[in-house]
Amino acid sequence: MEAELGHNPSYVWRSLLSAQELLREGSIWRVGDGRTIGIRSHKWLSHPSLFQDGVDQQLKVCDFINPHTKQWDRGKINAWFVLSSRDEVLRICPGNLESCDKLCWNEKKSQSPRRSRLWKLPIPPKVRTFVWQASSDILPTWANLVRRKVPIDLKCAICGTNDETVIHILWQCPLTRNVWALVRGRLQKCDSSAQTFLSLARTLMEKLPRRDLETWAMVTWSIWNAQNRFHFEATQTPPHAILKGPVPLMEDYPEAGM
Ligand SMILES: [Zn+2]
Repeated sequence: MEAELGHNPSYVWRSLLSAQELLREGSIWRVGDGRTIGIRSHKWLSHPSLFQDGVDQQLKVCDFINPHTKQWDRGKINAWFVLSSRDEVLRICPGNLESCDKLCWNEKKSQSPRRSRLWKLPIPPKVRTFVWQASSDILPTWANLVRRKVPIDLKCAICGTNDETVIHILWQCPLTRNVWALVRGRLQKCDSSAQTFLSLARTLMEKLPRRDLETWAMVTWSIWNAQNRFHFEATQTPPHAILKGPVPLMEDYPEAGM
């Protein structure tokens, strides 16, 4: 692993670029001044935008905002967008022209009743977003990178026996199981045979009390960080250190049950 990274830096670079692409898939652009969002090349509506024939595909969102009123130019929108896209565009409130466009997590996708418990947990927002990314299978795991045609070995670099999927590295890899074995409470006894991280998340959200869910989210996040240290710094973190990882972060969240 170490030699591969050292002798082929473009391999790391390609992996990072693909990771970026994966993360972008779960995101949506929020319109600020509209200068960086291509009407066709960027995801900024809930569906691919549809246009009348002859529209210039290179146009940016800002080309449809009146610079004086800072509102949509309804004439242009009516002329170039088909009805279904037009209605959605007009429901968006453009930001003021000094604000930048922002790439945000498309949280609407994760508002199912089961997953909504996740958004109410008193855990740091970055951990919440991470668990959502894992459930949506958009983490840059080796298996996901292979899917994006990055030429790497699909097998888990730690155990070498299973494919490195999200559920494997965060729940089923032998190293990961050693971490979960150290966690007190009901998590220790949870079944390790889930097919996907999403199905695991659904089961735990139904079964576990809030405190166990908080611990699950925090430890999962810490396992992911340890996994990244292994891949990119060639450092293996022992299970007890992985478990202690989230403790400083939780000091700002005294209600959490670590
Ligand atoms: Zn493994």
